[in-house]
Amino acid sequence: TRRRVLMSSDEIERAIARMAHQIVEPEDVQEGLLLIGIRRGGEALARRLASKVGEIRGTLPDLGFLNVNLYRDDDVARELPESEIRSTITGQTVVLVDDVLYTGRTVRAALDAVTDLGRPRAIRLAVLVDRGLRELPVQGDYVGKVIPTSRREHIDVILSAQRSDADAVTVTD
Ligand code: 5GP
Ligand code: MG
Repeated sequence: TRRRVLMSSDEIERAIARMAHQIVEPEDVQEGLLLIGIRRGGEALARRLASKVGEIRGTLPDLGFLNVNLYRDDDVARELPESEIRSTITGQTVVLVDDVLYTGRTVRAALDAVTDLGRPRAIRLAVLVDRGLRELPVQGDYVGKVIPTSRREHIDVILSAQRSDADAVTVTD
């Protein structure tokens, strides 16, 4: 196996800053913005995006976390903490956040989970890495980096809730 670095800590920080600027651009986010990290990989990115959005706007967005196990159509459910969403969803702009977008099945499950909790004004999708190989019609609205992969490759995302020199995206084949 070989390992290649695809994003350095600096590149990740720049991607997060760019995504945060894009997230706050649409006018509808004034009505309420809720970032939802998909457990477990999306949690750290959701925290990083939330604090960056806070720096840009002067107020922190609402932040929540989603466990989509119950909504999956495949058998990859793992033991994860329950969902934690304290704000109302109805009327808000919800941004789903995940580390890697692959087949699209996790996002499809997340859309079902959110729909059970209320009726958002809009739902958008932010991912750090889009590795291709989609099996459903799902696309990211805010994408850190597009990294075409083969099925046998795996992307390792090392991301802390606060900026760290150890942050990195690598690929192993
Ligand atoms: P999908 O459901 O789109 O097939 O896969 C996306 C989900 O699986 C995400 O929640 C992500 O955390 C995880 N995932 C899929 N492929 C990879 C990968 O190569 N690396 C990492 N870190 N997570 C992946
Ligand atoms: Mg995941």
